[in-house]
Amino acid sequence: MNIGNLSFERTKQAVLSGTPLRGEALSRFVAGVADARGHDAADLLHQARTIRLARLGRTVSLCAIVNAKSGRCSENCAFCAQSSHFGTSAPVHPFLETEEIARAARTMRDLGAKRFGIVTSGLKPGGEDFARLLDAVRAVDALGMEADASCGILTPDELEQLKKAGLKAYHHNLETARSFFPAICTTHDYEDDVRAVGHAVAAGLHVCSGGIFGLGESWEQRAELAVTLGELGVQSVPVNFLHPIPGTPMASRPVLTPEEALKIVALLRFVLPDANIRICGGRQTVFGQTRGLEPLEAGANGLMIGDYLTTRGLDAQADRQGILEAGWEISDD
Ligand code: SF4
Repeated sequence: MNIGNLSFERTKQAVLSGTPLRGEALSRFVAGVADARGHDAADLLHQARTIRLARLGRTVSLCAIVNAKSGRCSENCAFCAQSSHFGTSAPVHPFLETEEIARAARTMRDLGAKRFGIVTSGLKPGGEDFARLLDAVRAVDALGMEADASCGILTPDELEQLKKAGLKAYHHNLETARSFFPAICTTHDYEDDVRAVGHAVAAGLHVCSGGIFGLGESWEQRAELAVTLGELGVQSVPVNFLHPIPGTPMASRPVLTPEEALKIVALLRFVLPDANIRICGGRQTVFGQTRGLEPLEAGANGLMIGDYLTTRGLDAQADRQGILEAGWEISDD
């Protein structure tokens, strides 16, 4: 497809030669992505796959999470089952016992996950919960896994304590573009989230930050989020597709089509050629129970396996097998 006087192929060549896709070239590219159908869309996905192969090879990185503290969140993110602002049937439980978290981590390690994320709802775990989080990080680290955490907006000092306990990566999603965020959340500012990611980068942690797509954001806003993530220097970008939850303001939003979801993955790969793009929640909402690996053919190089925060995932063993049968390799990181 020609994008102005460019094509996806030539744009790929520019990206691979080290020219970041930004400014006017990005605007033209985004318009081309939005319009791409049929053969053009297939070309886009193919070029994104080529960037992934050139920069990151054939490996697929697997990670898993545990919902260590669920529900009763003070924030009002419009897609989230855990917000106390909406009446949903999501589980509500206090911080899990360390042994329970370690058991979940061991199970996922045996299924091939190298990274294990401890996720808590709310702006951050305070007091006793923070002490429990430190214990949980030590327990996951002791299993020989990369201990990750996703625990809201932490201070540099709290991140330092977690690092000393063995934390390797910190996860904090920006969720969506700065220009769209007020339509999604009004209980905290986008800049609070940007600052949280910046603190984790400054702490020298592997930083994982991405978002959720299909909230009503435009193609330009998808690119805007990708550029912000690139500017922050995040290494890993979790990609979630909206799974509309009854009781939330997003309950009746249409689910993304597989075609649109794959074009989103390809767009992210063009803008962030070196990032680990991981497909997380909403995979089977979009692709169904048996077709969940297509994003790997569109530029993604990582998958979350097992269950998500409040929704069930696909069988982790079947994911592993499917990845290998498709000719990919499971990475060691
Ligand atoms: S996304 Fe996080 S901060 Fe927002 S409501 Fe859900 S748990 Fe709370």
